[in-house]
Amino acid sequence: MMRSKHVNILGAGQCGTLLATMLARKGMTVSLFERNIDPRGEFAAAGRSINLALSARGINGLNKAGALSRVAPLLVPMRGRIVHEVDGSTEFLPYGQRDDEQIYSASRGELNKILLDAAEDAGNVEIHFGHAATGYDATAQKARVLDIEADNDYEIEANPVIAADGAGSVIRNALDDAGTVGASEILLAHGYKELAIPAGPDGAFQLKPDALHIWPRGEFMLIALPNPSGDFTLTLFLPKVGETSFASLNSEQAAAQFMEEQFPDVAPLITDAARTVVENPLGLLGTVRCRHWHAGGNVLLIGDAAHAVVPFHGQGMNLAFEDCVVLERILEASAADWQDVFSNFENEQHRNANAIADMALENYIEMRDTVLDPKFVLRKKLAFELERRLPKRFIPRYSMVMFHAEIPYSVAQQRGEVQEKLLKEFTSDADELGQIDINAAAAAAAELLAPIEAT
Ligand SMILES: Cc1cc2nc3c(=O)[nH]c(=O)nc-3n(C[C@H](O)[C@H](O)[C@H](O)COP(=O)(O)OP(=O)(O)OC[C@H]3O[C@@H](n4cnc5c(N)ncnc54)[C@H](O)[C@@H]3O)c2cc1C
Repeated sequence: MMRSKHVNILGAGQCGTLLATMLARKGMTVSLFERNIDPRGEFAAAGRSINLALSARGINGLNKAGALSRVAPLLVPMRGRIVHEVDGSTEFLPYGQRDDEQIYSASRGELNKILLDAAEDAGNVEIHFGHAATGYDATAQKARVLDIEADNDYEIEANPVIAADGAGSVIRNALDDAGTVGASEILLAHGYKELAIPAGPDGAFQLKPDALHIWPRGEFMLIALPNPSGDFTLTLFLPKVGETSFASLNSEQAAAQFMEEQFPDVAPLITDAARTVVENPLGLLGTVRCRHWHAGGNVLLIGDAAHAVVPFHGQGMNLAFEDCVVLERILEASAADWQDVFSNFENEQHRNANAIADMALENYIEMRDTVLDPKFVLRKKLAFELERRLPKRFIPRYSMVMFHAEIPYSVAQQRGEVQEKLLKEFTSDADELGQIDINAAAAAAAELLAPIEAT
């Protein structure tokens, strides 16, 4: 069957807008339906500045859509983590070891506006703001959409519909109810609240700007990402209930005492720290996995709608952009019908989404706890040394995920397991690099790890 050249995309978040841009640039026509009003308009809510870490896979996607140069002015480079201990001491842990091995902080809201501009400028994209998907009728193969202002319900043909409507996807829920996708959603026992540090005098940064700051405290943590305007967006991750939890910080007095005790070096810089810890909305975190992402050639789930991951590897958006790259490549490679395109997409990307979902969960423990362990720092040093000696074979797992878009997440996970075992073995009796037989470690790595050709 011929593949239609028109696509309906539900959700104009990061994934929906980037995909619309890519498809329009390939000569397809796209109708994009977004529940919210246009964030670029005068009636848009002035949202808080929330930032996201952008890394190689996301950059690759923006580049392929011709949008990277538009986004570049938003980006603040981060070269590593600055770990803040309770006594105020700090340590810089670099993310990578080459000059270009850095990640970038970007404002979610500004990025979204730029991507909407890019989609419109690509031509052939019609955006319907204030139009929310409300369900999917599998028998009629139609999605239902509500024009919110007109209070008018109508249907659109699933020929096809691509659902990029985020972690709470109504289309995923409808397909799941019909038994099509086998979705599971596991919420973390921890939630988050966003706080802020304003710019200092003359727009100066009040913390070092070229890093992601972490205050790891074992069961919980605070992080800060820089914004181009000199301010920082902070995220406090804490258990939702329990002894030290958002539930227990239920008064400004309790919150003030907690912030001063746990984060004494930064608490005075935070705007209304105690009030915002109590009053700001609590965000939930979870992992969504599905057995399948498509219903024949009619509907495809993509981005968070298909696979929400916890944010501790900074990869949810990067994965969503990688989805767009993979889908575009499959469309280019053949004239197969939508059913085959969706099935090929699922075959390729499903294992990768599962791999980064696992790695993101592991990274929470690394960020809030393991970074404080001197052995962790030693393993990182040995990993960099092995990478210098065997650059085609030993690439630290963090670097594979963040800096090597050409290495699938699933491969990063598999190789990462082999590497971690080796790093633990060779650091078990050592306190510093000089005490490790690096030649033996390199020989073991060369034997266990085949070269990665594409690097
Ligand atoms: C605290 C936190 C920190 C994060 N940090 C990072 C990070 O550093 N790096 C990173 O890569 N990722 C990060 N992520 C993940 C990232 O935000 C998501 O993976 C990414 O936004 C997914 O994009 P999306 O387009 O699939 O979904 P969304 O961005 O959620 O977009 C969905 C869109 O669909 C619209 N929509 C929803 N329902 C409907 C409907 N029924 N009809 C029509 N439209 C609808 C929404 O309004 C929205 O515009 C973080 C997430 C959280 C929660």
